[in-house]
Amino acid sequence: MKEVYKACIISTGTELLLGSTVDSNSLFLSQKLSDLGLRVISRYTVGDNREQIHNAFKNGLEMADLVIASGGLGPTLDDLTKEVACEVAGCEMQLVEEEVLRLKEFFARRRRDMPQENLKQAMFPPEAVILRNLRGTAPGMYLRKDAKVLVLLPGPPREMQAMYLDEVESLLKQDLALDEKLSASRTIKVIGPGESQADEMLADVINDPRGCSLALLAQDGEVHIKVTAEGENAQHSRQILKAITHRIEAKMGKYVFGYDEDTLTGVVGELLAGSGKALALAESCTGGLLAGMITEIPGSSGYFWGSVTSYSNEAKVKLLGVKPDTLDRYGAVSRETAEEMARGILELSGADYSLAVTGIAGPDGGNQDKPVGLVYIALADKNRVTVKEMHFTGAREAIRSLSARTALDLLRRQLQI
Ligand code: AMP
Ligand code: MG
Repeated sequence: MKEVYKACIISTGTELLLGSTVDSNSLFLSQKLSDLGLRVISRYTVGDNREQIHNAFKNGLEMADLVIASGGLGPTLDDLTKEVACEVAGCEMQLVEEEVLRLKEFFARRRRDMPQENLKQAMFPPEAVILRNLRGTAPGMYLRKDAKVLVLLPGPPREMQAMYLDEVESLLKQDLALDEKLSASRTIKVIGPGESQADEMLADVINDPRGCSLALLAQDGEVHIKVTAEGENAQHSRQILKAITHRIEAKMGKYVFGYDEDTLTGVVGELLAGSGKALALAESCTGGLLAGMITEIPGSSGYFWGSVTSYSNEAKVKLLGVKPDTLDRYGAVSRETAEEMARGILELSGADYSLAVTGIAGPDGGNQDKPVGLVYIALADKNRVTVKEMHFTGAREAIRSLSARTALDLLRRQLQI
């Protein structure tokens, strides 16, 4: 069995520890390396401190096959990464004449003298591949040493990302024969059950994962099930990924709405576009949130008629034709009002489907009969109206967001039959 290569990511910079800069570089590198089929086993964030940087590289080179670091390649005294990393790896640095010229030109073009300390940006171990930085002054470095790979990248995310994508990725593929990814992974996205309920539904699969690992992540009312298959080769990994995907789909059934990059709004959009149907909305407690989500998708004009934000009773009556008697008798937050809102907008728009949402988002406005979080969601087409009663919990924003998503999901289920 071919081994899975292990990677360690190091971010250097005191600003990362102080919380003034988000360590987005390690997130980017984690994703990219995982995509390549490497297993990221650890990440270190260290300040601009010789000892801490030393420890991070020492541990990294001991534990992993690849150590990839960002930050600390600049000219100033606190930029220590290259010096310390080379020391730990046991490589001597030398002044590289070509790099000195490049730096001199860089300063000459800007009519500035080159400070002496910039010279350290031209120091490299002779065995290193020097990585050009087209967006800044600090070059990066790619070094094979014994069975290990050491990569140093600049800190600014634009420079780091460009250097990784332009140079590092292909070098890694060559060196580690990663042209074909060994592991295979996929995210299966469900909506409906919460995280613990999904966990329960998947108990059989989780207890017997058959060569895969599973991780559940709850996000905005959705649960994302990330599955990674580590087989003997790429084909085997894909096979076991397929098998576990089928098992998960069998357990989660209609709750599965998409995979990987899919979003609920995107999926609903595709279903509408694919069937040539149009949608109109009548929003009360979501106040246009649902329309906002739908119109975030490019091309939504092809299937989205529009939305009436009928927040007041008067708007419900005047714009949607909700009967005053219905409002008097059952209230604005009721099954009956939701139904009339959905019918009203369907008629007004001539769309094929309509969704209506009315509820109590809180924090005030609830009572014993109608507590905060009570939401009615209606879906109408020319033949019928279905109304769903929901009891959400959480703060106002959470209730509004869950209402919007549940409405979309109601339509998705209708369209996916
Ligand atoms: P340096 O190469 O250490 O001089 O870093 C230059 C700048 O890049 C810093 O001031 C940060 O704004 C940014 N930076 C450094 N490391 C990271 C990181 N891990 N994630 C995001 N930004 C970073
Ligand atoms: Mg720095």
